[in-house]
Amino acid sequence: MQTPLKFISTGNLRRLLEALGKDYQVYVPVKKGNQRFYKRYLEPCDDMAIAQVRPFEPLKAFFFSAREKVARGFEPEAPLRDNKPYCIVGVKACDLKGFKVQDYVFDDHDYQDPFYISKRKANLIISSDCSLALETCFCSALGLKPYPQADFDLNLSEVKKGFLVETGSHKGEGIIKENSSLFEEAEKELIAKRDENREQVAKEVEKNIKYNDIPDQKSFKDIIQKNYDSSIWKEEAKACVECGACNTVCPTCHCFLLYDQKDEDKMARLRIWDSCMIKDFARVAGGANPRHKLWMRLRNRFEKKFDFFPKVADIYACTGCGRCISACPAKIDIRRVLKALVANVK
Ligand code: SF4
Ligand code: SF4
Repeated sequence: MQTPLKFISTGNLRRLLEALGKDYQVYVPVKKGNQRFYKRYLEPCDDMAIAQVRPFEPLKAFFFSAREKVARGFEPEAPLRDNKPYCIVGVKACDLKGFKVQDYVFDDHDYQDPFYISKRKANLIISSDCSLALETCFCSALGLKPYPQADFDLNLSEVKKGFLVETGSHKGEGIIKENSSLFEEAEKELIAKRDENREQVAKEVEKNIKYNDIPDQKSFKDIIQKNYDSSIWKEEAKACVECGACNTVCPTCHCFLLYDQKDEDKMARLRIWDSCMIKDFARVAGGANPRHKLWMRLRNRFEKKFDFFPKVADIYACTGCGRCISACPAKIDIRRVLKALVANVK
């Protein structure tokens, strides 16, 4: 959307979040130790970290819950029930790309998931530029910039004493109109400063990419098929302990498991996150398992992200957020695997 940039002071942003709290469950990133986590915004807090870098937990956790009751008896649960929709603040470009994969799976594909869709449609996304890059960030290799360019309602860019505000949807435009007294016109110097900040963080990500020699997505075409029988999978899988952390923290992973359990006087059906790295993930009735070896499951994880998704949805199901690198206790580094796969087909 081409609407003029606005400026909101830090104090007025707090006022805006308080006002949004009447209609939304507002969540903001806060810093704890070296990590950032989302926290419900109920009152002004000193540890708010709206800019900085992506939080530890992926955005998907709000819209596709780790554990969710999807039916009770023969009655489907009413999505959203009494809850207010989410307003998530400080969402980064890598997690916005994660939405593209989740939306494909739960909305634009064979089946429309009422739970995901109801939360997603009602949500308000106030994204923000990254003001720093972690050593594990490699979003630019996946075609992103470390600042949101689309798919937000409002975007915040941290500048001196506040934020520049970009409008990305009619919903966002409405929020600005309803709270117009909190916003000012953006000064040219602040816009120039924002552009400078963006360039600075983009350079930091590029430096990471160069340092780790990470290939660009342009070289990913057919790397899985061409490496299907490569020894890379066996080598990399040696250290894997099958914990599933790589799937859990990933903003694009979306596999789930359904199971039934007693709920008061009826049976309830629950949906929980599943992991394709775990042995029983693909096991079928009768005990047969098409991916009985750990290296096959590692290959499948990469195949889904770098072969299946580009074929069906024209997107690599990786955002370069680097979460799986930090989470893996076996130090299986997606950057190293991609580098080896690309080098092997040259
Ligand atoms: S595969 Fe790793 S780097 Fe890519 S989106 Fe998932 S967690 Fe992030
Ligand atoms: S996080 Fe690492 S050890 Fe755990 S399942 Fe994934 S690759 Fe294996």
